[in-house]
Amino acid sequence: MSTCPFCRIAAGEESARIAYQDEAVTAFHDRNPQAPTHVLIIPNEHIESVKKVKAEDANVLGMLIVVARRIAQEEGLTAGYRLVVNTGAQAGQSVHHLHMHLLGGRPMSWPPG
Ligand code: AMP
Ligand code: ZN
Repeated sequence: MSTCPFCRIAAGEESARIAYQDEAVTAFHDRNPQAPTHVLIIPNEHIESVKKVKAEDANVLGMLIVVARRIAQEEGLTAGYRLVVNTGAQAGQSVHHLHMHLLGGRPMSWPPG
């Protein structure tokens, strides 16, 4: 079994509230939500962070946004939403499997903290 929690969720080895899954991408609800809708969208294949992205990852990374749009529609986020990819320690990345946060359902300020 993988030591990476998000690899385990993608493989169905660790429980999560799955919002969407296909052969390339898994989306699941964040266990510590920061907004009424807080979903994490990940490539099923382990990529540590944006720092490790290669040109051949472009398709699956594009699908993260396609899936985000689909879930945002399902969740009724017509007033807007935010997509966030924390990268590296200073940006607050705590899980080292690339993930896109989909946050919505409340007003959000800018710049982020
Ligand atoms: P980041 O700080 O960008 O690395 O975000 C990691 C996110 O993953 C946090 O919002 C955590 O609450 C969330 N998280 C960590 N482990 C799990 C898990 N097993 N199931 C659901 N969400 C998780
Ligand atoms: Zn992983």
